[in-house]
Amino acid sequence: MKIKDILEKKEHTVSFEIFPPNKNFSEEKLKNVTAELVQYKPDFISVTYGAGGKTKSGTIEMASHIKNNLKTEVMTHLTCVGSKKSEINNFLKEVKENNIDNILALRGDVPVGETEEIYDRGDYKYASELISDLRQNEKFSSLSIGAAFYPETHYQNNDLVDLFHLKNKVDSGVDFLVSQMFFDNELFVKFRENAEKLDINVPLIAGIMPVTNAKQIKRIIELSKCSVPKKLEKLIEKYGDNPDSMRKAGIMYASEQIIELFAYGIKGVHIYTMNKAENAKEIIKNIAFLR
Ligand code: FAD
Repeated sequence: MKIKDILEKKEHTVSFEIFPPNKNFSEEKLKNVTAELVQYKPDFISVTYGAGGKTKSGTIEMASHIKNNLKTEVMTHLTCVGSKKSEINNFLKEVKENNIDNILALRGDVPVGETEEIYDRGDYKYASELISDLRQNEKFSSLSIGAAFYPETHYQNNDLVDLFHLKNKVDSGVDFLVSQMFFDNELFVKFRENAEKLDINVPLIAGIMPVTNAKQIKRIIELSKCSVPKKLEKLIEKYGDNPDSMRKAGIMYASEQIIELFAYGIKGVHIYTMNKAENAKEIIKNIAFLR
């Protein structure tokens, strides 16, 4: 089923993100994680693609497993940086052959060990070009297409310019938007107000990262440059050295964030599980009364 239709039908959606198997996370282990995740009845699960320049394999295989064996809706991420149209078309052909209806169309970043020259090497410079191309290709135009957005601005731009580029991206054929993680709901709501002023009216799905490991989150925050509200800073300061307490506090923080976002009328939340079913389980338990 298309995510566009799920979003139209439901008051709120709750979905999960996983990453495909790699040398530290086997396919077997991930299949166990997904088997558990589907029990929490997500509206869909998304599978990342080549993030951080790592291997691009495994995305379709895992998405296909979730869709065709576990009978749960999926979305595959797809980055276009440095890619030729023929490579993108081959990937999408496989997407269609595996009965997958949803794509998160992304530009991607410079992979580790490469330089910015990669932006000029492929057939696409920005995600909006990939999206226009998909919409004009009759083989793929029926896919439900999502794109990324940054409530606190993409790291390569200032907020106004980034918002205009987002408007252009949405107008190229986007059905819904999924955000980068953020920890301050006020900033998200402010972003929504600004987006509405530019007639960006597609559903916004909020990316929620449970802060369960202080060291890991410090690095992620450094890379994503998202701001940390005082309340979260204090939790990390107090519980960061105690893994069990940090995990519990992080789960509570993420759960409260979701409850508040739904109260603000945000359409969906997408939980970055980092392939940890246990964290997703506890958040789902905390927000069960809303589903
Ligand atoms: P774009 O929308 O192309 O924007 C990139 C930058 O270019 C922005 O600064 C924008 O303002 C600017 N821009 C856009 N159009 C123009 C224009 N016409 N002229 C000048 N500047 C322009 N990465 C992965 O590798 N794999 C994944 O699976 C993955 N999943 C993600 C999921 C989510 C929800 C999010 C938020 C990000 C994900 N990423 C992933 C990271 C993403 O690839 C990077 O953040 C990347 O830097 C930007 O991708 P984009 O699709 O937002 O790019």
